[in-house]
Amino acid sequence: MLDGIVSKYKNLSLTRKIFFPIITVFVFVFFLESGYSLYFRRTVRTDFVEEAVFVLINALTVAFVTQTVIRNTILKRITYMVEAAGAITKGDLNQTVDTEPYDEMGRLAEAFNYMSAKVKRRLEAAEQLSCVDGLTGLYNHRYFQQSMTEALGSARNSKCLSLLFIDIDNFKNYNDTFGHQKGDQVLIKMADIFRGNIPPGAILARYGGEEFAIALPLSLIEAKDIAETIRKHTEDYRFFGCNDLPNHCLTISIGVAAYPEHAVNKSDLIKLADTALYHAKQTGKNRVAVSYSVLDELRDTLSQDELQLINSVKPMVTLINAKDNYTYSHTEMVIRFSEMIGKEMNLSDQDLKILKYGAFLHDIGKIKVSAEILNKIEPLSKGDWEAIKSHPEAGREIITPIGILAGTIPIIYYHHEKYDGSGYPDGLKGYEIPLLARIVTVADAFSAMLSERPFQHRKNPRAAITELKSAAGSQFDPHIVQSFESALNALVIQKAPVN
Ligand code: GH3
Ligand code: MG
Ligand code: MG
Repeated sequence: MLDGIVSKYKNLSLTRKIFFPIITVFVFVFFLESGYSLYFRRTVRTDFVEEAVFVLINALTVAFVTQTVIRNTILKRITYMVEAAGAITKGDLNQTVDTEPYDEMGRLAEAFNYMSAKVKRRLEAAEQLSCVDGLTGLYNHRYFQQSMTEALGSARNSKCLSLLFIDIDNFKNYNDTFGHQKGDQVLIKMADIFRGNIPPGAILARYGGEEFAIALPLSLIEAKDIAETIRKHTEDYRFFGCNDLPNHCLTISIGVAAYPEHAVNKSDLIKLADTALYHAKQTGKNRVAVSYSVLDELRDTLSQDELQLINSVKPMVTLINAKDNYTYSHTEMVIRFSEMIGKEMNLSDQDLKILKYGAFLHDIGKIKVSAEILNKIEPLSKGDWEAIKSHPEAGREIITPIGILAGTIPIIYYHHEKYDGSGYPDGLKGYEIPLLARIVTVADAFSAMLSERPFQHRKNPRAAITELKSAAGSQFDPHIVQSFESALNALVIQKAPVN
């Protein structure tokens, strides 16, 4: 019975909730006082002081009951609501307040909960919009960057995270031929193809205009398979107008890099996937290229001492690349191209090793030339030229004390000599210039032509070969240029359309 009364009381309106206890207590105190008077005096008449005391007791009792009831029924619940509002302001959108008992305060609490749920849903929708690319419905660049940080955090335990960078081949040409609207439809369809070929847990984003990125919680080998599947599905899909395209299909190139094999932090992983993509483009497009570091390969053949040495000069080489404003890893490319030429010319393993070290270290002397001079767009002054021309000598000075790198000194010192004798530092001619230096000269020039520089737009491989050939006999050893062309032709480079 008592429970019934309590639950009925709880659901009373606030005015009644406050009114009833006051009346009840008032009546109770009144009868108590009356009983007291009757018992002790046998009369209800009292003197003035006693009357005043009774009135005071009544007033105090009523005040006490009133404040207790108000505190429990209103003030406490207002405090909860204020606390919840504070938490919501700080971003905890899961806050609700108790709507029981369901009186006016309960209804207010219900309205509060409704409002916070609405705010939460709206914020989630806004957040979703800010993470999603409007055209394809994929995650956008911002979200991708953010989630890569988290994905790398989780990958530290699983040791599995691979990154695919995808770029549509010759898409500018497609847009120019069929219009941007058709181009947009291609982007939407490609997003569908990618979506349909990735496992749960993958993060697929539109990284830029017609570039996509996919972070896969998979090993490098598995990621490479997925990249190949995506590439094949794209190649096979009959996009609008594909019959009129040069290869009768629209294709993509993909660069792959993995944690921890290639890089252990986000920016390096992204850079390497991008470099691998660039390599896929340079070597024919419509292909998957896995990040490959010639230095890592070199490291495998090194003793502990040599390894320490290489590791100690590596930051210098990185610094020079940054200083010299090369967009892509120029040094990597010089090593790669030098090796291609060396193999084509059937150099011994020992010479190939020296060649690769030399290619790695060839610009080390630039550490002493200021970035301002290296990146000057205006014509160089006589002083600037002298500073630049001093770098082979500076490189020789840096490397000479390191005995085991002695073989690389001719490469470092002579890689700016020209075949016709017009180069520096010594103006050597033809075969007077050491063979390995002549090779690096060609590889260095080719890599520079393919790189975006402040004073020069990058060339496509065909244009770069044409330029090498036009300077064969003057700047370059014609035999080496020829060997390089053969080595490049052995790759699919001749398939690359002229941009
Ligand atoms: P490559 O094979 O070297 O990648 O050549 P490409 O022509 O694809 O060159 P690039 O990757 O620089 O492509 C950039 C082009 O992508 C420029 C623009 O026509 C197209 N593009 C970028 N964003 C959009 C977009 O939102 N819609 C459409 N339709 N085209 C876009
Ligand atoms: Mg692009
Ligand atoms: Mg493209």
